[in-house]
Amino acid sequence: MTVTTELVPYEDALASFDPVMGLEVHVELGTRTKMFCGCSTALGAEPNSQTCPTCLGLPGALPVVNASAVESAIKIGLALHCEIAEWCRFARKNYFYPDMPKNFQTSQYDEPIAFDGYLDVELEDGTTFRVEIERAHMEEDTGKSLHVGGATGRIHGASHSLLDYNRAGIPLIEIVTKPIVGAGERAPEVARAYVAELRELIKALGVSDARMEMGQMRCDVNLSLMPKGAQKFGTRSETKNVNSLRSVERAARFEVQRHAAVLSSGGTIVQETRHFHEEDGSTTSGRTKEEAEDYRYFPEPDLVPVAPARAWVDELRTVLPEQPLARRGRLRAEWDVSAHDMRSILNAGAIDLIVATIDAGADATAARKWWMGELARRANEEAVELSALPITPADVARVAALVKEGSLNDKLARQVIEGVLAGEGAPDEVVEARGLKVVSDEGALTAAVDDAIAGNPAVADKVRGGKVAAAGALVGAVMKATKGQADAARVKELILDRLGASGS
Ligand code: ADP
Ligand code: MG
Ligand code: ZN
Repeated sequence: MTVTTELVPYEDALASFDPVMGLEVHVELGTRTKMFCGCSTALGAEPNSQTCPTCLGLPGALPVVNASAVESAIKIGLALHCEIAEWCRFARKNYFYPDMPKNFQTSQYDEPIAFDGYLDVELEDGTTFRVEIERAHMEEDTGKSLHVGGATGRIHGASHSLLDYNRAGIPLIEIVTKPIVGAGERAPEVARAYVAELRELIKALGVSDARMEMGQMRCDVNLSLMPKGAQKFGTRSETKNVNSLRSVERAARFEVQRHAAVLSSGGTIVQETRHFHEEDGSTTSGRTKEEAEDYRYFPEPDLVPVAPARAWVDELRTVLPEQPLARRGRLRAEWDVSAHDMRSILNAGAIDLIVATIDAGADATAARKWWMGELARRANEEAVELSALPITPADVARVAALVKEGSLNDKLARQVIEGVLAGEGAPDEVVEARGLKVVSDEGALTAAVDDAIAGNPAVADKVRGGKVAAAGALVGAVMKATKGQADAARVKELILDRLGASGS
């Protein structure tokens, strides 16, 4: 099959076609045990050490539904404004694949636990776009295969494959949107914003860490084009397992351009799955799409239906956290930042860190300044998440407090932070060990000021003559002499005082 199609420039594609999108997001739940057995879900264990007859699909083993996973599913459904089914069943989705030892995946088919909801997402220009949710259903993850002996790690050319069933049976929630129409040229942006907002919601609910880079959340991007103004959807492609926000946007954009190229040249789109390639943002053909009937779905006979009591659902509804979008709006007002700054804070993963720093006593401006300045820079340098830096919100709040009380200036504060990050202890320990304190002893400061004046008589004369701006050079000399440990504003005052010039 040839995959090289000339792409149509994005703007040209949008001039002739309207995109229709559907997003299917899989979220691995953070439950302690698997969906249908008591095996641990902890990451990083020896391959196949977290398995049992049930998740290995041995004959006679019987599954039992994980109540905590059902609770998480209901919370997700409620947060997405969905109806919660009064009664629903699991189904067997039959297919043979070695990473699924039962030869079927236990999933939900026509009876999802949650359905008919929506999620409002915020776009770059500050407007909100409503994405309608078709359903959220429960299922289980598959094992992992590793193809060995080939050049590419793909099965083609490999000499053998290794299978790890530790992941087989980990609870998954799949959230499926209704067809997203009307986004026009912003379709790729909507896709990204939707996955981003969904991730915030999942994290706020505490049901998963939703780390895309760790595969805890992955997205299939369905996309089709229809001639501008048409009503009938075109044939879709489904780009599977896209695992970063940026890739979701790029995959959608690429497919718009590819579909447009095929359609404009009189070709037809085949319904198929596609693979996304990080290196160049392209997609290539996977397999032609199975129809539902290929899976021979039927109700799972080994499990009783799930019928969550209304009282339980209502109780879960009352303990839902504030919607992340609304929370950001509230914090934005409290912190007095622009919509643009708030999005930067969100993208940096800094919201909760800033909130915690404020809770630990810092003011909003200082908390934001440290996390989005020095610490963001460090995280960026080391290519880690802000939250992965070895410094706590309490540490940052302490540094901010030391600055506020005048015992540190910004420069010294940065050195304290550097010390904390280097594992030298809490801020106060770093201050102590490195001897970092603003020189506030007036006697010592005055002596340094007098030295600076004596050493720069010409400058001193200018200042005496009323050129207050020239005092900067003297301040610099004092700061140098005190190794930056003086309060620059106080130094300037002392200099002007000494030279009989006024600061105003
Ligand atoms: P499947 O399991 O075959 O992928 P689903 O119904 O689970 O089917 O998911 C299909 C996704 O694609 C849904 O989000 C749906 O809204 C969306 N979709 C359906 N038809 C189209 C289309 N013609 N173009 C774009 N998206 C579509
Ligand atoms: Mg699909
Ligand atoms: Zn098991």
